Amino acid sequence: MKPQIKKWLNELPEYVAGRTIEEIKAAYNISNVYKLASNENLFGPCEAVKKILSENIGTVNYYPDSDAREVRQKIADHYKIRPENIIMGNGTDQIIEMICDCFIDEGDNVVTADPNFLIYEKSARKCGGTIVKVPLQDFKQDIKGIMKKVNENTKIVFIASPHNPSGTIITKNEFEYLLDKVKQDVLVVMDEAYCEYLDDAEKFDTISYVSERPNLAVLRTFSKIYGLAGLRIGYGISSADIIADLNRIRMPFNISSLAQKAACAAIDDCEYILKIRDTVKAEREKFAEALKKEGIGFIKSCANFMLISTEGKTREIVEELLKKGFIVRPGENLGMPGYIRVSFATPEIDDLFLKNLIKIYRTFVKK
Ligand SMILES: *Cc1c(COP(=O)(O)O)cnc(C)c1O
Repeated sequence: MKPQIKKWLNELPEYVAGRTIEEIKAAYNISNVYKLASNENLFGPCEAVKKILSENIGTVNYYPDSDAREVRQKIADHYKIRPENIIMGNGTDQIIEMICDCFIDEGDNVVTADPNFLIYEKSARKCGGTIVKVPLQDFKQDIKGIMKKVNENTKIVFIASPHNPSGTIITKNEFEYLLDKVKQDVLVVMDEAYCEYLDDAEKFDTISYVSERPNLAVLRTFSKIYGLAGLRIGYGISSADIIADLNRIRMPFNISSLAQKAACAAIDDCEYILKIRDTVKAEREKFAEALKKEGIGFIKSCANFMLISTEGKTREIVEELLKKGFIVRPGENLGMPGYIRVSFATPEIDDLFLKNLIKIYRTFVKK
């Protein structure tokens, strides 16, 4: 006999994380390893972030501000909203978890695309809920199909735009269709972890809908373009009522003091973010051109990563890339068999990657 966990927890899906740089260095006895598996920003955080972190190292004996007031005020000023509309999470992951903890009970369901970011499913099922999955259509989230699956037990609809792992986006029309169609007691969660990578033409102001829609939550993160993934800080924007609901279950010191400081510095440096965005856009175009020229299939992405077709040779391609020091994510782990997901890095690393990838394709795929 041992203490028994709730029975449904035995069946929770497992998040298979990307392999670590240290692991690969040791396993393959190589010194240069590039992690292109978790959509991190390989340029790192801006200089102001590094400076503030080193300046504040000596203050970690103090608990952080439990309400993260300074960073919430910064975000509020940035988007011209109020701090009451903002909640901070230990990564956006934690906000997704808090949303499910608040709204999902046994017998409830959430509706989302298949595949989608795994944390939605894991968080919902942890609470005893079920997940209703609607297949992607042409690698895009099928908003009409998703709406058709919403029923009286649905509490949340999760949309990611850009979507992970496909990199595709939903349009303003699709977003408005969803908000107009869905009942007011269903929370629409718009996860925009990669939205800062979008071109102006692809972008629309999702936050502006929050004031008139009591059932919308927009999620953003400092993990991706801001380069703070290791510090764990993300935020959610919603009606003051929903934010108050989430605050009932939020643990008081969920954001570390250094993460709060770093996020304040990061959000101030808009120029850095625009530079990263434009660099990544050029990388995206470079990848597309090189792959097209070589006859390698890929999915057109709007984010800082891309699905590349492996024509059934995923295992071999992943393994050969590892030998050269490149960690990518096999699509099998992301519900996208037949593809690898590759994050864009710096132009130099990307050139090296493409050279190696093409060589591997010529050997293993197009003999
Ligand atoms: C990376 C990611 C997140 C956020 O991750 P955190 O590091 O927890 O902020 C959220 N949604 C999607 C789709 C992501 O890819």
